[in-house]
Amino acid sequence: MRTGGPGRPQADARELAAYDELIRRSREQALLASCSSLLGWDEQTYMPPGGSENRGEQTALLAGLQHERATDPRVGELLGTVEGSAVVSDPESPAAVNVRELRRTFDRLTRLPRSLVEELARATSKAHLEWVAARQAHDFELLRPSLETIFRLKRDEAACLDNGEGEPYDALLDEYEPGAKSSELAGVFASLREELVPLVSAIAGASRRPDPEILRRDYPVDRQKVFAETAAAAVGFDFHAGRLDTTEHPFCTGIGPGDTRITTRYDPRNFSDAFFGVLHEVGHGLYDQGLDPEHHGTPMGEAVSLGVHESQSRMWENIVGRSRSFWNYWFPLARQVFRDALRDVSLEAFHFAINEVKPSLIRVQADEVTYNLHVLVRFELERALLSGDLAVNDLPSAWNEKYLRYLGVSPGHDGEGCLQDVHWSAGLVGYFPTYTLGNLYAAQLFDRAWDDLGDLPAAFSTGQYGGLLGWLREHVHRQGQRHHSAALVERVTGNPPSQEPLVLTLRSKYSELYGF
Ligand code: ZN
Repeated sequence: MRTGGPGRPQADARELAAYDELIRRSREQALLASCSSLLGWDEQTYMPPGGSENRGEQTALLAGLQHERATDPRVGELLGTVEGSAVVSDPESPAAVNVRELRRTFDRLTRLPRSLVEELARATSKAHLEWVAARQAHDFELLRPSLETIFRLKRDEAACLDNGEGEPYDALLDEYEPGAKSSELAGVFASLREELVPLVSAIAGASRRPDPEILRRDYPVDRQKVFAETAAAAVGFDFHAGRLDTTEHPFCTGIGPGDTRITTRYDPRNFSDAFFGVLHEVGHGLYDQGLDPEHHGTPMGEAVSLGVHESQSRMWENIVGRSRSFWNYWFPLARQVFRDALRDVSLEAFHFAINEVKPSLIRVQADEVTYNLHVLVRFELERALLSGDLAVNDLPSAWNEKYLRYLGVSPGHDGEGCLQDVHWSAGLVGYFPTYTLGNLYAAQLFDRAWDDLGDLPAAFSTGQYGGLLGWLREHVHRQGQRHHSAALVERVTGNPPSQEPLVLTLRSKYSELYGF
């Protein structure tokens, strides 16, 4: 829609010039950020160890430049000129979306006093080393004092960012999931927990069991590589505009239009790790490849949130990639490629094995059902730690108690308990819930896509994914940051985010597999 016209004031030249300058600055910031991303990718893939000191200098310089430009008072002046003008009169226009989001970022960055930012950087860099040592020694006490400092500083951060609505935790959550409210999340998550805990115990008590050993046979790495790349290309990952490399920790990084990098790791005795890891990162990569290049470098050309990003990876990894229909097509090929490992394995046995559900202690190794319970434990605990309802000193016992209650397992030591994740020692508070939001959004969006597109499993059975990908491009990828995540989900599906689609999907899939 054009601004102006009858009855609508026309933007004046000064306002238009201010908007243009904002966009130019935003694009330059995106270019600087993409240089940082490329250096980060290189550091984890091909950089020789000797380059690490110089790389540190490069990234610090770029980070400094980005921060300086992002907090330049001129940005505040430009925003002030454009806000309330005819440039942004239609709230869903790209211009209004860009201005709204640029304001959000500017306020976040300028509301934090420099002393607090520096103190947090010092505390987290000290805590990182202590976390490594504490995890190794299974000794929470080595990290406790620093963790107390970090939660105190995060409380200060939340107070600086607080806009007077909701609880302090929301201000931190907002960095990863803009607009999300913890009180709403808590309701959905509590309902999810009430459904998942009995589902997990029904699975644990079922007499039918998968045979996970068939996935731990010999799977030669070169063959895994070809197989995973073939599947990645088949679902739509564009290798002309992307790469797949090998790293210690898999990730996806969008460098810019036409350049999306994903990574994985291969284990010759484990089929699932690399294959589903690739599908996961491919899901992230498809989102990045689907962003509108015309709006690159502005909020209209960027992903909505971590939760929505994760919904794309989880959809391709779990809903598509672990479905029976997906393997109707791929299993015969897998049997040709991994002849020795799969010679005596049926499609049913394979499909059951890749969907094994088993309560465990470690989040990153968890299956798609129990995974959410790991996240809910962390969400409840970090919210209580931030509000002061839980003292850092009591974290290990509170952790163990929740694991026993939700998952029926109990850590032998804190290394496999509250010390397993890097997030809190890195100051990432409010990040965990985005993992489960990703699962919720994925199930809800997929249901809607199925309604709109007809029989998706039939398409997957013949190796066709273009319908689903095209739907995601239109309804999610090309929307950029037009809506925050909850509003986006509601616009697309007709319902606010809910635990129900995920619960129904999991219940029907696993009652069939496990026979209860
Ligand atoms: Zn992910």
